[in-house]
Amino acid sequence: MRYLITGGAGFVGSHLAERLLTRGDSVVLLDNLSTGSMENIRHLKSFEKLQYQLDSIENKQLLTELVDDADVVIHLAAAVGVRLIVESPVRTIETNVNGTQLVLEAASKKRKLVVTASTSEVYGKSTNFPFREDSDLVLGPTTKGRWSYAASKALDEFLALSYWKEKKLPVIVVRFFNTVGPRQTGRYGMVLPNFVSQALDNQPITIYGSGKQSRCFCDVRDTVEGLIRLMDNERSIGEVVNIGNTEEVSIEDLARIVKQRCGSSSELVYIPYEQAYEPGFEDMARRIPCIEKLESLTSFRPRTPLTEIIDRVTSYFREKRASAQTRPVTGSAIR
Ligand code: UDP
Repeated sequence: MRYLITGGAGFVGSHLAERLLTRGDSVVLLDNLSTGSMENIRHLKSFEKLQYQLDSIENKQLLTELVDDADVVIHLAAAVGVRLIVESPVRTIETNVNGTQLVLEAASKKRKLVVTASTSEVYGKSTNFPFREDSDLVLGPTTKGRWSYAASKALDEFLALSYWKEKKLPVIVVRFFNTVGPRQTGRYGMVLPNFVSQALDNQPITIYGSGKQSRCFCDVRDTVEGLIRLMDNERSIGEVVNIGNTEEVSIEDLARIVKQRCGSSSELVYIPYEQAYEPGFEDMARRIPCIEKLESLTSFRPRTPLTEIIDRVTSYFREKRASAQTRPVTGSAIR
């Protein structure tokens, strides 16, 4: 099979590409390197069946050609990360809404299967735990920038499901919950890479708010496994499916565990949200996925324990630092 992955040089995209190439599929990556990087896919250069295009999904002609050549389109290109969203709301909304619209339009001509990535952010401030795919979405006011991400992804979902209902375009919507692992950067505010690099530097670990808010962290390998099983299953078509781990941890405890597993002397510091993000910033107190639907469709549930995930991320950062010290200054481009 031939897969087109938009946002393929990003964190999740690069892991998905690796998995598909390893099982013998052909993979074309389309990425404008806005948040993805060549570093993420450098290790894939030995795969003959990899091709990549460093361009935007807004290049309509290229997108149409790539979609026509593919059997399945996995649409991961999006503006992600709370910091990026708060700082660049126009880009977030435009990238997320226009990009998905272009992908669906291109795919609908020849009815190519589109797997489109959404996010647990769409559940917003709901307190109806765990979050089920058919639960109500509870978003904050439009004056608070954070919610633009959830609203833009919710619109993507509506659009994808409408293409399925009205034009019979096969689509699958996946809602990712806090996905973490090697190659995720802390640059856009994600908590685990931030905590691990702070701990390894013995710098203060920055807990935003009270630290009592909690999340469930899913190893990217599990996310990819769930994603592949969903797209290999006809019964997933037209469905919205959560992919996440159900092991819950408070951010304060996460900081403590990271510190301990890194053998770090970092102190834990608490930073008010308005300082970390912007005045009036609203956070979610909890976020827990219901993964019954994923399990019933795929017989799979993410199970990697948090400590194992932290250790993998820590090893990645250690290796990255070691290689940065030994690498010559000039890099080489891959094919
Ligand atoms: N967070 C934190 N310190 C950081 C980065 C994030 O305490 O350096 C908090 C953030 O406020 C949120 C949680 O960690 O409560 C998860 O943040 P992330 O951006 O990784 O994902 P989110 O769940 O907000 O999408």
